[in-house]
Amino acid sequence: MEEIVSLCKRRGFIFPGSEVYGGLAGTWDYGPLGLMLKRKVEESFWRTFVESRTDMYGVDAAILMNPKVWVASGHVATFADPLIEDKENQKRYRLDHLLEDAGVDVKGMTLEQMRALITEKKIKSPDGNELGEARLFNMMFTTHVGPVADDSSIAYLRPETAQGIFTNYKNIVDTLYPDLPFGIAQVGKAFRNEISPRDFVFRSREFNQMEIEYFCDPKDWEKLFEEWVAGFHSWLESLGLPKDKTHDLEVPDEDRAHYSKRTIDIEFDYPVGRKELMGIAYRTDFDLMNIQKASGKNMEYTMKGTNEKLIPHVIEPSIGTERLIMAIMCSAYVEEGEGEKRRAVLKLPEELAPYRFCVSPLLKNKPELVSRAREVFAELKAKYGNVVWDDNGNIGKRYAKQDEIGTPKCVVIDFETLEDGTITVRNRDDASQVRVKVAEL
Ligand code: ATP
Repeated sequence: MEEIVSLCKRRGFIFPGSEVYGGLAGTWDYGPLGLMLKRKVEESFWRTFVESRTDMYGVDAAILMNPKVWVASGHVATFADPLIEDKENQKRYRLDHLLEDAGVDVKGMTLEQMRALITEKKIKSPDGNELGEARLFNMMFTTHVGPVADDSSIAYLRPETAQGIFTNYKNIVDTLYPDLPFGIAQVGKAFRNEISPRDFVFRSREFNQMEIEYFCDPKDWEKLFEEWVAGFHSWLESLGLPKDKTHDLEVPDEDRAHYSKRTIDIEFDYPVGRKELMGIAYRTDFDLMNIQKASGKNMEYTMKGTNEKLIPHVIEPSIGTERLIMAIMCSAYVEEGEGEKRRAVLKLPEELAPYRFCVSPLLKNKPELVSRAREVFAELKAKYGNVVWDDNGNIGKRYAKQDEIGTPKCVVIDFETLEDGTITVRNRDDASQVRVKVAEL
């Protein structure tokens, strides 16, 4: 994990947020390479689950929403984590995390049961002090809309993108008349005031979600649920996550939200342990019913042909971009070879690699090589866009750098190029080299 965090920073993938001012816990900034990777991951999601299907629609809702949304969804009342305070220095911790760190399986436990265990097992704070009372802490960030900061102007930064989908369900039904089943997808920011952000970007306070609400006739949910689980597994595999590192956790009754009849968490074996990468939940008609009650607007769908009316049920796949990027980086990163040949390589799928080609002249101080290399670079850049120029250091150093950032092919222009028009193409994954004509690239 440390190697990956260090690579992310050293090579311009992910930096700690506001680092120049000492940082802000739980926030991260994407550097140039990380941003390219993030865009490619989110584009892949969109291509796979929206563009390549005929039953999917996209939305991009506002982050700030009417606070009634979060009352109706239950977030104001219940979107909370258990918090416990160090009695001496008032530092705050996630109660369940302290117990998990002590080897306790907290699944299904109430706040009181967890607090009792802290006493029973004599668990102290990480600073070795007594722990105080436990309470639930609501994770929504609040702000005020407009110039007056009072209770009537409170708004929340959305803790999930899903509600922006539900609130637009009716708009999409009325404007696009989709056949049931159909789905709405959204990719965007979500904010959670996590008590203790940790494990790099895994638990951040500001992160991106890729979410789908798939609306269906309740009689079909079981089959569709299985299809979504299978669909996500094959997508994750296509992004390089090994099959044996992803696991379906059938969330037990006591841990599931009361309205969900079935939830599967797809977990990934991160270097920091097996943890939730994403969730797929059958949410029944809970959300649309709540909106109907709270807004007084009819959320029924009229079946084409029969005119039968029903409130669709929903299957919700939800995945965080950062948790996925972390899983992709962990899957792609390998250290191989011995002695001088030892190297660190990011074996990203070609479609995700920030740069597709790196172009360089063998020697930087030979104008004839540089000018030919510049021509090849310009041609590739015009064709592919994500092509990088590198003439720093010696060729070995360049290869090492491109291996670390996952560039699949390095193209080198040397003296032979000037004679016969061939160039060296070096392959990232096995360090093999071939000579091809420029036109064959
Ligand atoms: P956890 O139990 O790990 O806090 P959760 O069950 O609360 O996660 P959901 O509410 O199901 O998470 O959110 C859907 C997805 O959003 C998660 O599976 C994860 O990929 C992502 N996600 C949730 N919280 C965070 C966070 N703090 N930082 C990064 N990604 C997150």
